[in-house]
Amino acid sequence: MAAMGQTVVERFLRYVQIDTQSNEKSSATPSTEKQKDLGRVLVEELRELGLDAEMDEHGYVYSLVPSNSDKNVPTIAYLAHQDTSPEASGANVKPIVHDYEGGDIVLPGDSSVVIRAEDNPELVKLAGGQVITSDGTTLLGADDKAGVAEIMDIVHYLVKHPEIKHGPIRIVFTVDEEIGRGVDKIDLDKVGAVAAYTFDGSEAGTYEVETFSADLAVVTCIGNNIHPGFATGKMINAIKMAGAFLDRLPKDRLSPETTAGRVGFVHPYVLEGGVDKTTCRVLLRSFETPELREQEKLLREIAAEVEKSFPGGRIEIEVKEQYRNMREQLEHHPEVAEIAREAIVRADLEPVSEPIRGGTDGSRLTAMGLPTPNIFAGGLNFHSVREYAGVETMKKAVEVGVHIARLWEERA
Ligand SMILES: [Zn+2]
Repeated sequence: MAAMGQTVVERFLRYVQIDTQSNEKSSATPSTEKQKDLGRVLVEELRELGLDAEMDEHGYVYSLVPSNSDKNVPTIAYLAHQDTSPEASGANVKPIVHDYEGGDIVLPGDSSVVIRAEDNPELVKLAGGQVITSDGTTLLGADDKAGVAEIMDIVHYLVKHPEIKHGPIRIVFTVDEEIGRGVDKIDLDKVGAVAAYTFDGSEAGTYEVETFSADLAVVTCIGNNIHPGFATGKMINAIKMAGAFLDRLPKDRLSPETTAGRVGFVHPYVLEGGVDKTTCRVLLRSFETPELREQEKLLREIAAEVEKSFPGGRIEIEVKEQYRNMREQLEHHPEVAEIAREAIVRADLEPVSEPIRGGTDGSRLTAMGLPTPNIFAGGLNFHSVREYAGVETMKKAVEVGVHIARLWEERA
């Protein structure tokens, strides 16, 4: 096959300079209008390649690479998110391409920011190739503009190489992934695919078909507030109830700081309120969905105990579903992950699949009926001024995307 990945770096360097940071405090979609600045560029570039492309009012970009096969090949979709994390600045990103020979990388915009080889074993593996970083004052935005640039290069390659046979490929660039709303306004009818792949992972060869199952428990302690001067025998302090509740959570197990691998946890992460009412938000996480019910039961048992020691006080617990382990749905469609794996092998890489201790847009899409594994995109140290991306890895991701398209055609 002719060389793939010819435009991926050039695209990436341009896209990261467009500020697309999302903002969790905004309830609009997109949460920031500037995300559309990238969307407009992508629509124009897709049209220049001769494709239909549009951005909807929410900032989602949709396009389609039409089938060039005589067979009836099912539609698949490629997705990446346009926004970058609110955790580090995404304005005035100055990408730097390093010829990397190993060792630490000192970032010139702030010499105190060093990507240390000893802390970054994945970086060391890129020695002998090129590595892209920011200047150290902003994030890079490889999460997920690496994925955006790779998908654009896949499209470019397929359009320029009609001899490569493939079915219909829907392209979707989403918004607000970093604030957990990446698929809130997606139009699945418009996507119209039987399977999808997000390009939003890290190291070359990795793909993800398993995530946590996740619920959010909102624990509300209800006390009774009264002027402290007249409180004798009457006040019930909801702050102290919450303190007692948190103190009874297991200390040597079932927390993010005491677990790893396939073990889940219960994680209080927001506490707010006053004497009257104090609310604690608790993440429930497990790779086995039924275990979430056990975690909820534990919280309810603790709440009952605390209520006994605060007569008159009440604790209400409301549990909301967040996302589900995509493995549960992917098991019904084994070809979706199998093709990802085979495509990675065809790109001369060792396929590695590890469960993610988190969720992806793919876990929500999979739960909505669109099986969506996640493919590596080459970025590491996400959400940080030490973020970096390997050029060779990005080119390999393009290869994998082309092979996935071919495999669906071959097997149709
Ligand atoms: Zn991402």
